[in-house]
Amino acid sequence: MRAIDYTRADSLEAAVEAFAAVGLDARYIAGGTTLYDLMKLGVERPVHLIDVTGIVGLDTIDTDGDVLRFGALALMSDVAYTPAVQDGYPILSESLLKAASQQLRNMATVGGNLLQRTRCPYFRNGAGSLSTVGVYPCNKRVPGSGCAAIGGLDRGHAILGVSDACIAVSPGDWPVALTAMGASVEIHGPAGTRTVPISDFYRLPGDTPHLEFDIAPAELITAITVPKAPSRSSTYHKIRDRESFAFAVASAAVVVEMEGANVRTARIALGGVATIPWRAQSAEETLRGKQLTPELALEAGRAAFRDARPGQHNAFKSDLGARVVADALMIAAERRA
Ligand SMILES: Cc1cc2nc3c(=O)[nH]c(=O)nc-3n(C[C@H](O)[C@H](O)[C@H](O)COP(=O)(O)OP(=O)(O)OC[C@H]3O[C@@H](n4cnc5c(N)ncnc54)[C@H](O)[C@@H]3O)c2cc1C
Ligand code: SF4
Repeated sequence: MRAIDYTRADSLEAAVEAFAAVGLDARYIAGGTTLYDLMKLGVERPVHLIDVTGIVGLDTIDTDGDVLRFGALALMSDVAYTPAVQDGYPILSESLLKAASQQLRNMATVGGNLLQRTRCPYFRNGAGSLSTVGVYPCNKRVPGSGCAAIGGLDRGHAILGVSDACIAVSPGDWPVALTAMGASVEIHGPAGTRTVPISDFYRLPGDTPHLEFDIAPAELITAITVPKAPSRSSTYHKIRDRESFAFAVASAAVVVEMEGANVRTARIALGGVATIPWRAQSAEETLRGKQLTPELALEAGRAAFRDARPGQHNAFKSDLGARVVADALMIAAERRA
């Protein structure tokens, strides 16, 4: 058994100081719904946990200002059931309610959700207890060790944004909706505060799949902000292997602005198919200014997967993903006020 130190921080400064005092082997912990899992699997091996749930004001949900502002410690269920979010931004509410289970959503925070790690089974189950490489090679867990998923069981893996080093899917639903909405992430750390557009927050795997997020070890997410664009015509459409409590096989977050029967603008992001929450600009361009029909929606869906790079067992995701985009577009457009 390994001893782990625990500190409960009561302010941002105390949290950052506690982290800096320990160094790279410290971890912040919020709801703990994913970090404890990874600790039990031996993937994460912190020596010191810094509990941030006692920091006052970090769970505030503010829908009255110029932007929607969700404190990093706001619970997934609290954000999902906020009336202004449910009524005006179904894309956000649905992305949270279609994730995990009610029990998990009652514990998990919207900030922690952004930092969850891939569900690639070789990454999660391959750590072993003693060796450094583990049971399976995995460049994300042990840089330079290889990738067991490439040429292996890749049905659940990505077909967009992949590299020769990693094909792991970005698992979250909420970050996909935030990507379609053009959200930003507020971060506080030893060097002060900064704001990162969500489009820059997730890193493509490239040669360094272990570097996943634009956040330094001692930095804390403090809030997520979302522009207040008209978003009633939106949806988060998620296809999974079973109807609830499962990660996306393919999903689409869609906001459309209609002008009569025509699409003025569309914002589309994809989940379950890519290594990062994936903005599908080619699909958006296919739609602009045209009359929305099921045929055009499917054409846009196909455009989103034009550059797909499937492996052995996941080529079906191109067709499935295109149909998910098409269905999401029709659902969103029907919600016009
Ligand atoms: C069985 C199961 C099914 C799930 N299904 C889904 C699903 O379908 N869709 C989906 O999107 N998610 C799913 N999840 C993931 C779940 O949504 C996340 O576990 C949860 O959102 C993480 O939030 P948390 O507060 O518990 O994070 P924690 O576990 O506390 O932390 C997660 C990571 O973020 C760091 N961290 C936490 N808060 C901060 C902060 N404010 N600043 C900096 N670092 C921080 C921690 O150090 C850790 O690395 C599932 C999880 C489980 C266990
Ligand atoms: S896909 Fe990525 S996370 Fe999975 S085994 Fe390969 S390197 Fe590791």
